[in-house]
Amino acid sequence: MRQSQQMEPTHDRYRAVTNRTIHRYDQWSRIDPELRRAVEVVSQVLPFRVNEYVMNQLIDWDRVPEDPMFQLTFPQRAMLDDREFRQVEALLERKAPRTELRAVVDEIRMGLNPHPAGQMTDNVPELDGRRLPGMQHKYDETVLFFPARGQTCHAYCTYCFRWAQFVGNPKIKFEARETDDLVAYLRAHPEVTDVLVTGGDPMIMKTKALRAYLEPLLSAEIDSLQSIRIGTKSPAYWPYRFLTDDDADDCLRFFEEVVASGKHLAIMGHFSHPVELATEPAREALRRIRNTGAEVRMQAPLIRHVNDSVGAWTELWQDGVRLGLVPYYMFVERDTGAKKYFEVPLFRAHEIFQGAFQNLSGLGRTVRGPSMSAHPGKVRVLGTASVRGEKVFVLDFLQARNPEWVGRPFFARFDRKATWLDDLQPALGEDRFFFELEKAA
Ligand SMILES: *Cc1c(COP(=O)(O)O)cnc(C)c1O
Ligand code: SF4
Repeated sequence: MRQSQQMEPTHDRYRAVTNRTIHRYDQWSRIDPELRRAVEVVSQVLPFRVNEYVMNQLIDWDRVPEDPMFQLTFPQRAMLDDREFRQVEALLERKAPRTELRAVVDEIRMGLNPHPAGQMTDNVPELDGRRLPGMQHKYDETVLFFPARGQTCHAYCTYCFRWAQFVGNPKIKFEARETDDLVAYLRAHPEVTDVLVTGGDPMIMKTKALRAYLEPLLSAEIDSLQSIRIGTKSPAYWPYRFLTDDDADDCLRFFEEVVASGKHLAIMGHFSHPVELATEPAREALRRIRNTGAEVRMQAPLIRHVNDSVGAWTELWQDGVRLGLVPYYMFVERDTGAKKYFEVPLFRAHEIFQGAFQNLSGLGRTVRGPSMSAHPGKVRVLGTASVRGEKVFVLDFLQARNPEWVGRPFFARFDRKATWLDDLQPALGEDRFFFELEKAA
C-alpha cells in the first residue's frame, strides 16, 4: 500500500468545539470577556463549531479578534445589526424561555436570505416528472449531489451560505437519500460529464458512507461521466481525516479506486488563508491525497476580515502551487447571511485578484475570478476600462444557464459601492444586459 508513512497522531480523535464546550479551553478564558459575550450572543443565531486542530494550530490567539482564522470560524458582534444583537442579548440576560428565544432567532435567520439565487426552487432536476431532492443541475456539464450524511462540516465558516442546512430547521434543508436517482439521471443526461459531491462537507462522512454513495457511480459504468469532484474543506479544517482517523487509509484506498476506474477524481479544496496550508498535518494530508492520483484544486471566496489582501492570496496560491495544488476559483462573497460584515466591493475584489495574479507564474494563473455565482451564471469581473469616456466594469460569464453566454465580454457602469451583480447597471446607454434580453437556454 502506498499510504504507509505514519504521522505522529497529535489529534487521536475529532472533537467538535461549540458554545457548549468552548469554556473548557484555556485560549477561551484568556480572551476579553466582552468578546466572549459577543460570541455567545451572535452564536444563538449563527452557531459556531470549531475543533481542537482549528483552536490549537490555525487560530493565533494573541491576535484575536483580528486573527483571520478566528474571524473565519467565530461569530462576530457586527454580523448582526445592532438592534438584533441587543434583542438577543436582552433575552439571554433575563433567561427568557427557550421558545421565546427560538422565535426571535428564527425571525432573524429568515431575514438573512438562507437560499440565494433561486437555489432551492430553480435548479432541482426531474426524472420522469419526479423532482430529485438532494441534487441540483444548473449548468449542462455538472450535477451537484448533496449526500444526506455529508451536510455538516468539521468547522463552520462564519460567512457561509450553507449555514441554513446546519441549524436544524427542516423547511430550509435539502438532501439526498440515494445514489440510485443520480445514476438514473446521469443515464438520461449524457451531457453531464461531472458530478460534484458537496454539502456541507462530504468528507465529514465515514469512508463507508462515502463508498456507499459513490461506488454505484463507478460500477454503473456511465461512459459520459468523466469526473467526480468532491468539494471539501477537510484538508484545512481537519487534515487528520486523511492521516489518523480510523478510516483514513481506507478513504485514500477508495480515492485510488475511483482513479483506477478511469474517472478523474478532483478534490475541490476550500482554502481561505495561507495558514491553512502551513501546518505539517495539512501538508501531509495533501501529499497523501495527491499520492492516490487525485488532483487537488483550490477555491475560496474573498472575505473581508479574513483574506482581503493581495498578500494573503499571493501566498495562498504560491504555497498551493508549491504543494502541487491547482488554483481554480476566487469567489465573491454572496448575497446571504452576514453579508454586510464580510462583503468586499467588486472593484476592490478585482484589485486584490489582479494584484495577486500578477505575482504568480503561469502555473498559478489557472485561477479565475473574482466570480459571482448569481442567478444567470458565474459572472467574472474582468476589470475596469474606459469606453467612449465612460468608466465601466468589464465582465463575462464563466458559467451560464445558457452556454452561449459564456465568454462574451459585457459592460456595466462602474460603481465603487457595488458588491454583487444585482447592484450593477448596464453601461453605454443600454437599459438591459444582453442576458436579460435572451431566454435562459
Ligand atoms: C460553480 C458551479 C458548478 C461548477 O462549475 P465549474 O465552472 O465547472 O467549476 C456547477 N454547478 C453550480 C450550481 C455551480 O455554482
Ligand atoms: S466548509 Fe464550506 S460548507 Fe462548511 S461552513 Fe465552510 S464554506 Fe460552509
